Amino acid sequence: MDADDSRAPKGSLRKFLEHLSGAGKAIGVLTSGGDAQGMNAAVRAVVRMGIYVGAKVYFIYEGYQGMVDGGSNIAEADWESVSSILQVGGTIIGSARCQAFRTREGRLKAACNLLQRGITNLCVIGGDGSLTGANLFRKEWSGLLEELARNGQIDKEAVQKYAYLNVVGMVGSIDNDFCGTDMTIGTDSALHRIIEVVDAIMTTAQSHQRTFVLEVMGRHCGYLALVSALACGADWVFLPESPPEEGWEEQMCVKLSENRARKKRLNIIIVAEGAIDTQNKPITSEKIKELVVTQLGYDTRVTILGHVQRGGTPSAFDRILASRMGVEAVIALLEATPDTPACVVSLNGNHAVRLPLMECVQMTQDVQKAMDERRFQDAVRLRGRSFAGNLNTYKRLAIKLPDDQIPKTNCNVAVINVGAPAAGMNAAVRSAVRVGIADGHRMLAIYDGFDGFAKGQIKEIGWTDVGGWTGQGGSILGTKRLGKAAGWGPAWRPADRVEFGVSDIVLHVAIFSVLPGKYLEEIATQMRTHSINALLIIGGFEAYLGLLELSAAREKHEEFCVPMVMVPATVSNNVPGSDFSIGADTALNTITDTCDRIKQSASGTKRRVFIIETMGGYCGYLANMGGLAAGADAAYIFEEPFDIRDLQSNVEHLTEKMKTTIQRGLVLRNESCSENYTTDFIYQLYSEEGKGVFDCRKNVLGHMQQGGAPSPFDRNFGTKISARAMEWITAKLKEARGRGKKFTTDDSICVLGISKRNVIFQPVAELKKQTDFEHRIPKEQWWLKLRPLMKILAKYKASYDVSDSGQLEHVQPWSV
Ligand code: ADP
Ligand code: ADP
Repeated sequence: MDADDSRAPKGSLRKFLEHLSGAGKAIGVLTSGGDAQGMNAAVRAVVRMGIYVGAKVYFIYEGYQGMVDGGSNIAEADWESVSSILQVGGTIIGSARCQAFRTREGRLKAACNLLQRGITNLCVIGGDGSLTGANLFRKEWSGLLEELARNGQIDKEAVQKYAYLNVVGMVGSIDNDFCGTDMTIGTDSALHRIIEVVDAIMTTAQSHQRTFVLEVMGRHCGYLALVSALACGADWVFLPESPPEEGWEEQMCVKLSENRARKKRLNIIIVAEGAIDTQNKPITSEKIKELVVTQLGYDTRVTILGHVQRGGTPSAFDRILASRMGVEAVIALLEATPDTPACVVSLNGNHAVRLPLMECVQMTQDVQKAMDERRFQDAVRLRGRSFAGNLNTYKRLAIKLPDDQIPKTNCNVAVINVGAPAAGMNAAVRSAVRVGIADGHRMLAIYDGFDGFAKGQIKEIGWTDVGGWTGQGGSILGTKRLGKAAGWGPAWRPADRVEFGVSDIVLHVAIFSVLPGKYLEEIATQMRTHSINALLIIGGFEAYLGLLELSAAREKHEEFCVPMVMVPATVSNNVPGSDFSIGADTALNTITDTCDRIKQSASGTKRRVFIIETMGGYCGYLANMGGLAAGADAAYIFEEPFDIRDLQSNVEHLTEKMKTTIQRGLVLRNESCSENYTTDFIYQLYSEEGKGVFDCRKNVLGHMQQGGAPSPFDRNFGTKISARAMEWITAKLKEARGRGKKFTTDDSICVLGISKRNVIFQPVAELKKQTDFEHRIPKEQWWLKLRPLMKILAKYKASYDVSDSGQLEHVQPWSV
């Protein structure tokens, strides 16, 4: 009944099957410790990948308790038993704390229960406690087997046959408290919950001029608190790893009142549950409230988020992360030899890695030890690069030095938004403006893209002008008036604005598609008039083309011989030189949420297939990743040509699927995937062919994908990447200082992006070679290698290239 993916590269298919057969193997999967959103996606991936490679997969219910108790707690899983769980928070196989497993006796029972089913491969999804337990279990395995043999519970043959236990862990924990992994499963979703609350609180705090003290989870780890503070531009944040200096009470009150004096109507203070001072004494939300009330007399409220953070549906990122990790875990189990240590599969940047479990656990415990011993700098260092980076960025953006303490560079740096709006652009502008000011530059905002640039819509922008911008959707520079305070008259405002009546969503259409080409003369004049010494462009493919034009015009116009850098911001994620662009994560979440709702609309009705069209131009990122996150049966994209035979095989696949208990189908189609196989065509084809078996509905998602409040990731990504861009500009300007240097080399006009695990600046001139200009996409796109994953999880045969799967590496603390 499986459809064959006939166009799959045969080489890697062979490689895959030869090396990784799971026949005769049994894998047990359990979730343990605190639950986290995305655990179900991980369970689904382990089960389906396991079955796909021919292994038997067993659910172990209720964590280690189920393993110790055995019986019906260990049950074979089948394909359908994990259907419709991708969008569900928590864990369907239950999680529990288990005292018995901490004892050898308990583990002996557990081993016996596993052996009865021939399970010698274990996939544990949980926090550091659960993974420590798993590691211990593995170490004791042969001893446990011998004891069972002595007791007559198993025979000698079994001792031989099941001599090794392979263990792979996936970290499921909303706290992101596990060293060695950039993101744990559940963290991104928890951030979504926190930011939803912050956004809601902001509107009410605004009306009442209130101070809000928001307590978020994290008894030992301040990741959630720190990243949410970054995402909402909080006034102050308290973390366990980085206690405030002595005298913080006074400093904080000064900061709050300064912010109020700058006409800020509200204050947000974020506190990690485990926040402490330098003497390791807890700093509680109540204590902070009391302080603000007695010292400043502000109306202050405490909100403790609690379990809300564990709840709700998993974010697109968590679903994709967990799916990728689940598949990786099965591969790691199949590849394990008696010498491989128990490992954790995880993401480092955008790259899958395997790390020795005990090294991670050890370092996680070292962080705690460092905190207990009040070696706080060590604690931050051990948390890893990303943590320290977040902390530095937060500090730079939250605290403004007094003007007289900033050495002036006498440089003017301009910031411009180009192209369609993408969520997170405003966060990027805010951070560029603030970092630029802190570096001593005069910051200029250019309004309405290159069009506005040519017309001279340029104005100085200050620290407070960008307050509160992180959470705003759309593009304020491109589309929104700065208001009277900034002194803009309405005369030049474009009239063709489309405003949606929803909160802060302002979508801007049509007027953006202006490249600098026809205005080069005028733009050069403006560069001269305003003495612009460097330019930061925030935008998508159009911005990239614009940058190329400016680069080509350098010979003719020396005004363009200044450092120029672009940070990618577009929902389509099609900018060469970066794996991600600002806005794509928000769009992906919108698509995923919408697919959930659409799928749900059919529950209880008859068999139905939905065809959903996504944006992206020729770039299939949104359709493909949306498909992975929503559990689609197929996703049609331009990058992987398809023909009528593929459509036919997809219809047949769905017809077969409808015979099972799963009676819903979901098909995504990228808007430009094919000129002739349009959404209507596919809808009609499916409707006709599915007659009597299923009916069809189609939805074109449209501009909702560009709007909405930015996701936590887009806020932070925008903030951090544009801070990096500004650092680069500052460094370049320093090189030139006093020498009137002209920047003419390729490396002074770059795109800043992330590639695998690195943030890199790439000259536009070089990126040209990597660009398919006709279709406005990069020639190579990393996410295409995840396509087979979606197919495998939807029960298609597909080749999964394992040559790129995670290699065993070592945990390394980040040196400051
Ligand atoms: P988390 O996995 O989220 O850190 P816990 O620390 O509560 O959560 O661990 C979950 C379960 O893992 C425990 O209830 C226990 O059964 C098992 N476990 C934890 N630590 C150990 C250990 N050192 N030895 C054996 N089992 C352990
Ligand atoms: P960093 O400072 O390393 O960017 P973060 O804590 O923001 O640290 O994120 C850790 C890693 O996880 C990053 O490399 C980022 O690419 C990835 N990541 C986290 N959330 C998302 C998301 N929603 N979408 C894509 N990638 C994400």
